[in-house]
Amino acid sequence: MKIAILSRNKKLYSTRRLVEACEERGHEVRVIDTLRCYMNITSEKPELHYRGENLLDFDAVIPRIGASVTFYGTAVLRQFEMMGVFPVSESVAISRSRDKLRSLQLLSRVGVGMPKTGFANSPDDVQDLIKMVGGAPLVIKLLEGTQGIGVVLAETKKAAESVIEAFMGLKANILVQEFIKEAGGADIRCLVIGNRVVAAMQRQGAEGEFRSNLHRGGTASLIKLTPAERATAIKAAKVMGLNVAGVDLLRSDRGPLVMEVNSSPGLEGIESATGKDVAGMIIEFIEKTAKPHRTRTKGKG
Ligand code: ADP
Ligand code: MG
Repeated sequence: MKIAILSRNKKLYSTRRLVEACEERGHEVRVIDTLRCYMNITSEKPELHYRGENLLDFDAVIPRIGASVTFYGTAVLRQFEMMGVFPVSESVAISRSRDKLRSLQLLSRVGVGMPKTGFANSPDDVQDLIKMVGGAPLVIKLLEGTQGIGVVLAETKKAAESVIEAFMGLKANILVQEFIKEAGGADIRCLVIGNRVVAAMQRQGAEGEFRSNLHRGGTASLIKLTPAERATAIKAAKVMGLNVAGVDLLRSDRGPLVMEVNSSPGLEGIESATGKDVAGMIIEFIEKTAKPHRTRTKGKG
């Protein structure tokens, strides 16, 4: 097969591993810089151009679209879909997963467990918002944040009020969430491919840190999932419409709670924690699923 990897940087671990996995399995592979793609959307036949060249004949595309280029990246991916190229995850699913509120709303609709979460626009509603999620301590999150930046733990009601009001004053979009204390500064990353969890790791935040992000000094280790955790991760990826997803769970007294669903999960942490060839499994999924020129969406939505 001829496989495109949409990525801004071919030196990134995940991109390199995907290239390797394609080559090992005998596929032709090219890394395409998302931001250097340009499109002809007026012609009858959708076209995608790249550094002066007309991109043709790809069978599948692996989107690795960073949060900061979601808007342009999903448009490029949609163009691939319109050309009948099989996307590992569809552009609509990626857009959906990038919006934290929309994601949580979709998950709650199908009964996936999640921390109590609230959202408000006006400072006049802050008191009630705090009450709604069960009072302090609580977690306040910037909707646009990633890698733990913009996630704040407010220990008291007064602190919560000040932080929420400050964010609102800056016109930042935030959500307010029940703090899951019993998670103990740890979370679980489940790597879902198709309808299977192929790898899972626990991430533990550094001493005195409630955020477990590896970028914030967290450490990863192997973990055995419970059947409920496995089922929750699969259901969450499915609701989002993602064939490849990193589903983050908190272990709580009332079972697994989904925090977020990532559409371009990093491979370095999970491959080194589990020793598994996740990149190879993504390519295997493409081999089993891709039907060239028969993608369902054709770039809809
Ligand atoms: P980001 O998108 O920036 O990674 P997350 O929502 O994943 O933001 O939060 C970062 C980390 O903070 C999580 O990995 C988790 O360890 C911790 N955390 C987030 N929300 C909660 C919560 N409601 N209760 C307890 N810990 C939380
Ligand atoms: Mg996270």
